[in-house]
Amino acid sequence: MKAVYLHVPFCDSICAYCDFCRIITNEDTKSKWMAQIIEEIKQKNIHEVDTLYFGGGTPSSLACEQFKKIASLFNVSKEFTVECNPESLDLEKIQLYKKLGVNRISLGVQTFNDHLLQVINRKHRKEDIFQVIQLLKENGINNISIDLMYALPEQSLEDIKKDLEIFLDLDIKHLSIYSLQIEENSIFGRQNLKPVDEDIEADMYELICRTMEKAGYLHYEISSFCKPGYHSKHNLAYWQDEDFIGLGCGASGKENNVRYDNTRSLKTYIESGANPYIYEETQKDKAFNAIMMALRTTFGLDIQKWNQRYDQDFIKRYQSILEKYHDVLKMENGILYPSREAMEILNTILVDFLLID
Ligand code: SF4
Repeated sequence: MKAVYLHVPFCDSICAYCDFCRIITNEDTKSKWMAQIIEEIKQKNIHEVDTLYFGGGTPSSLACEQFKKIASLFNVSKEFTVECNPESLDLEKIQLYKKLGVNRISLGVQTFNDHLLQVINRKHRKEDIFQVIQLLKENGINNISIDLMYALPEQSLEDIKKDLEIFLDLDIKHLSIYSLQIEENSIFGRQNLKPVDEDIEADMYELICRTMEKAGYLHYEISSFCKPGYHSKHNLAYWQDEDFIGLGCGASGKENNVRYDNTRSLKTYIESGANPYIYEETQKDKAFNAIMMALRTTFGLDIQKWNQRYDQDFIKRYQSILEKYHDVLKMENGILYPSREAMEILNTILVDFLLID
């Protein structure tokens, strides 16, 4: 499977929690970035791909002409996802996306609560979200994923309950939901904002899991829920130890099982390209990463594939862990599946994996 992630680093405003590679910039810099990203795609000779993911930043902030120039360089066979913000999406862009083969939209909603949207410095409001979802559906894009957040400042359990009720009313296929992380280099980090109490955060997560499962969604990854058949195909590459190509400044990739991070500096990128930092990982690190990523999802870990790739006998090596967690880690037809309980205590389980030499 060939998976490609392309990072679009531009945003129209900066959200209070954000520490991603993003920048507010002018058209001149955007044109220089355009020239460089097109050059990078051509140099890497990428055309036929299984999944293509435009992430950011805000890919929907690209003008139609810019988006078309980049998207036309690819031929996508399975899934073409574009991350969008409600305020930067309109009918013209949606129709263009559809024409260019985009078949999945990931919408950065975060919350439907107008006051909380203000607190986290998002520019859209609840009504913008409703309008854009209606436009997407009217134009035949039904595979929509929404990002929501919890453990926000001033957010109560009742607020989360309301957000989930609205989400369910909208009949959306996929939900990604993350707790607020206070990053040092974000606006919240600089304001020294204190995180929500751990027990309250755990109650919020519990409420989310219960509500979504009751509504018929599959909890297929720690932070992701979907209607059957609507899991993210692109992210499977990350979770199942496959390679994925990262394009653009701020992108990460893994080629021939070697991970890299492209430069986060737009200036460096424009002047001299991706300048990837290559991770020097041992086979042991890579083998552990494969376990860590696979156990995040209900797709589980393919033991035979792991044994072959890392030249080891998983069952023999981790016998003690399999015995200790036999209630929550189940082996079936050569796949090790985590139960929901296992996903909840995954960090503890992973520490045990790390301790085996
Ligand atoms: S959260 Fe997304 S939209 Fe907000 S500043 Fe960061 S990259 Fe831009």
